[in-house]
Amino acid sequence: MIDVLIVGGGGAGLRAAIAVAETDPSLTVAVVSKVYPMRSHTVSAEGGAAAVIGIGDTLDEHAYDTISGGDWLCDQDAVEAFVAEAPRELIRLEHWGCPWSRESDGRVAVRPFGGMKRMRTWYAADKTGFHLLHTLFQTTLKYQEIIRYDEWYVTQLIVDDGRVHGVVAIEIRTGRVEAIAARTVILATGGCGRVFPFTTNAAIKTGDGMSLAYRAGAPLKDMEFVQYHPTGLPFTGILITEAARAEGGWLINKDGYRYLQDYDLGQPTDTPKLRSMELGPRDRLSQAFVAEQNKGRTVETPYGPVVYLDLRHLGEAKIDMRIPFVRELCRSYQNLDPATDLIPVRPVVHYMMGGVHTDLDGATPIAGLYAAGETACVSINGANRLGSNSLPEILVFGARAGAAAAGFARSHQGGQASAVRSQGEDERRRLRRVLDDGRGTGPRIADLREEMQQTLEGAAGIYRTGDPLAKAVETLASLRERAVDARVDDHSATFNTELISLIELHAMLDVAETVVACALNRTESRGAHQRLDFPARDDAGFLAHSLVHRAPSGVPSVGLLPVTLTRWPPGERVYGRD
Ligand SMILES: Cc1cc2nc3c(=O)[nH]c(=O)nc-3n(C[C@H](O)[C@H](O)[C@H](O)COP(=O)(O)OP(=O)(O)OC[C@H]3O[C@@H](n4cnc5c(N)ncnc54)[C@H](O)[C@@H]3O)c2cc1C
Repeated sequence: MIDVLIVGGGGAGLRAAIAVAETDPSLTVAVVSKVYPMRSHTVSAEGGAAAVIGIGDTLDEHAYDTISGGDWLCDQDAVEAFVAEAPRELIRLEHWGCPWSRESDGRVAVRPFGGMKRMRTWYAADKTGFHLLHTLFQTTLKYQEIIRYDEWYVTQLIVDDGRVHGVVAIEIRTGRVEAIAARTVILATGGCGRVFPFTTNAAIKTGDGMSLAYRAGAPLKDMEFVQYHPTGLPFTGILITEAARAEGGWLINKDGYRYLQDYDLGQPTDTPKLRSMELGPRDRLSQAFVAEQNKGRTVETPYGPVVYLDLRHLGEAKIDMRIPFVRELCRSYQNLDPATDLIPVRPVVHYMMGGVHTDLDGATPIAGLYAAGETACVSINGANRLGSNSLPEILVFGARAGAAAAGFARSHQGGQASAVRSQGEDERRRLRRVLDDGRGTGPRIADLREEMQQTLEGAAGIYRTGDPLAKAVETLASLRERAVDARVDDHSATFNTELISLIELHAMLDVAETVVACALNRTESRGAHQRLDFPARDDAGFLAHSLVHRAPSGVPSVGLLPVTLTRWPPGERVYGRD
């Protein structure tokens, strides 16, 4: 019997595993991951991780930036815990070997980041996620009690009588389906950008953990808040990190004009606009792009309209020292050199503010089931996450969830063997049927996926309105029906990636339905959720999280949960560097 089973080998999952091992070395920990842990999406984070360190900065300022950046939808008790623990987590990572970039006098270097008033974003050049994940991975290797199921895909949570008892997983290499009994389970499965057609997210980010929890009866929270990052490369969606603008990059339209000066991004009036505007919050910058497009001031390309990111004035030396990966990506994927050329960019789906509803320790309403990282919604990100808050979030709440799960495992008896056996058997039979059924004539998985992605982009993109959202509800319901008969051509057991794609499609449809249902229900505009038919923020009606359950009929049922306010009453959103 596993004491703590963690689904996900990214930053949140590995940090949770270390926390369990540190809490009690007698506990057994399993990390189950559908890819080798170092291939998790955390590895691709570039810009940095925010935590107060500099003289003059305070925890309260970090908290305030996060709360106002999230348009007052963050739970303020969660934010206070987050900002207090983030510096400790980053220092701990340093002790484990993370090579944070340094100033010439030896101090940890920090850079400015969008929506943060102070410079507090730590970085390791522009490969922060790579170094962070490596550091965590090598640290887990120290602990014998952490065992790994690499390239195992979890298809179901085993839940009985309101308590989790383990998971069912497929060993991708052999097709073997196994029920793994566990006292506690932590979902650390990352985000779900792949629900949209144009995203910075890796192909594995299909919202599996959100769907697993939702199907098991746990609610999801704030699913309508989808973050667009303003600077993705056209066609590939590859991210050009915000660090490029933090280092002084400009956004210009087709006339070579720094168009952001025409928009209200929320800077305080006493801040020189030209200095801070490229570092406005991501939602506002993405919305400004749409306005430029409507004015005909973007550039048409075969891959949609773009504006330009101009780094030329930074010079080769600074680009090579501070953002070398940006240069590498531009050369490899766009065939241009940012030291001499303009970079075409457009907004791209990047991050889900919503996720599995948890408390401050990652606990969900199902006993023994926890969630942490991008798949969870604690919530510290509210209606719009500030860049560089996610890496510290996966550390802080990964560690908290690990410690809490360890506590639960120690104080509770083992799971129910009969539930593990029978639910494992049912799932094995279901998966076998999918492969045996033939289904030679059903719709193709890729076609269904594309229709789902286009439906979401059309109805739940940067701007939304009621009618297209209501229509999207119907389209997604019909897609779900058609997906039942989706065609599977590969009937083999070994590395059956087609079967995995089908399971991922069902997970994404769950997520897509909740995004649309919550967006339809929220008749106001806040942060990343902008309703053209309800353009104002409505604190009287919606200073509340959306909480969505799966109704017995299988459709999403949306309710509201009040936001926790501690010291910061709702106000206007402002940002800008002092
Ligand atoms: C390109 C890019 C750049 C970014 N840059 C930054 C940045 O500079 N600063 C910042 O703060 N944030 C950044 N972010 C956001 C941040 O990196 C992520 O939110 C964070 O790393 C997510 O970590 P995670 O551990 O929750 O999930 P992930 O790292 O995505 O890991 C998910 C894990 O779950 C496993 N998994 C999923 N489903 C299953 C299943 N069914 N069965 C078994 N295993 C499963 C996967 O194998 C994987 O190991 C960036 C994101 C992207 C996409």
